[in-house]
Amino acid sequence: MAKVCKFGGTSMADGNVIKNVKNIIDADSQRKFIVVSAPGKRYSGDVKVTDLLLKCHSEVMCGGNVKAVFAAVRARFVSLVRELNIVFDINSVLDETEALIESERSEDFTASRGEYLSARIMSAVLGASFIDAKDVIFFDENGALDGEKSYKAVADALKDCNRAVFPGFYGRGVDGRVKTFSRGGSDISGAIVARAVNASLYENWTDVSGFLACDPRIVDSPKRIKTISYKELRELSYMGANVLHADSIFPVRSANIPIQIKNTFRPEDEGTSILPISRYKPGGSVVTGVAGKKNFSIIFIEKSLMNSEIGFMGKVLDVVASAGVSVEHVPSGIDTMSLVVESEGLCGDKLNKLIDGIKSAVNPDTVRVIEDIALIATVGHGMSSSVGTSARLFCAIAAADINVKVIDQGSSEINIIVGVDNQSYEKCIRAIYKEFFG
Ligand code: ASP
Repeated sequence: MAKVCKFGGTSMADGNVIKNVKNIIDADSQRKFIVVSAPGKRYSGDVKVTDLLLKCHSEVMCGGNVKAVFAAVRARFVSLVRELNIVFDINSVLDETEALIESERSEDFTASRGEYLSARIMSAVLGASFIDAKDVIFFDENGALDGEKSYKAVADALKDCNRAVFPGFYGRGVDGRVKTFSRGGSDISGAIVARAVNASLYENWTDVSGFLACDPRIVDSPKRIKTISYKELRELSYMGANVLHADSIFPVRSANIPIQIKNTFRPEDEGTSILPISRYKPGGSVVTGVAGKKNFSIIFIEKSLMNSEIGFMGKVLDVVASAGVSVEHVPSGIDTMSLVVESEGLCGDKLNKLIDGIKSAVNPDTVRVIEDIALIATVGHGMSSSVGTSARLFCAIAAADINVKVIDQGSSEINIIVGVDNQSYEKCIRAIYKEFFG
């Protein structure tokens, strides 16, 4: 059985950390397929290689001094190779990369070079094959991952390979050019490789010892989550818990491959296991985690006898879809309907146009906008089997003197979302955490 290991930017930040990464890989013969990010920050205030590369691209586009900006990228990789003490002609690879950045004039190509260079170096460190992601990871004509084609190509490339290194974050678009995922997308690349080889485990090595039950900037030393289901993780990462790229779950979830979050700097820590529901046993706590996001708007629509007007909601949602606005939640009452949307999506005159569109489509009695709303999700499979969870949640919020503006609970019962004023966000998270985690 093979494990796929993805090492994030801080695990690739300098030669000494990469030596630790090699020790981690060598400690387990099942750690065969490795996916790497570009070197990240070495200390707070440092700049990630991907950000340096994006700066190079801006210079290319404005006819600026690319060489000068690329010098910072060059310095990072040259010192990394020196620290590793390996035989690798980094300067000629860098010369070639710099020339291609100027000739390709592509943001995605340029941004992807950090992963490309990291993987070339890592394959030299491990004496393993290098497989270029642009030959095995494919996007479709809509810019989405072409999963089936990619899984097959990765599996074919690895057929006679015992150990291989892939650069994360990119693949090939339908035009044949390099295309990247969104930022943090090496997590998705790792999941694709794991799925392609039907890995026994997808290990995601980062700089934290797993998921915390709550944002540590809000609650002091929150509990670590030992096990979490894909579903719970999806809910929590959608709401802002961001150890792992939210899209990285999909390739592995359908193949029931577990993910283990591990800390490169504390490899002995157990980390967090992300498991398919078939293998998941709730750890005894009703709630697994609490996460949230600020800056939502609620478009509140009221019309007498709304419930008996067939197609009312459909017409409203058509207006919203034609305006290109994404709706997060649609809590409704007998004569009311609310659209919860990210305020950022309503910039410029979008909001006014949307309100005019709704007025002419359904002729409501009132349309009102409530701004500066934060949404907080309390997530856990344990909630569906324990009576009184919502009572505890709302009592805790009320005891903290916080007014709830909107409530949404899906029938899956693993998630209760409340909307409160932005200013009450942190206080509300603390109140919920205290109630369920003590
Ligand atoms: N290097 C890319 C970024 O900084 C992708 C990744 O690390 O996953 O977002």
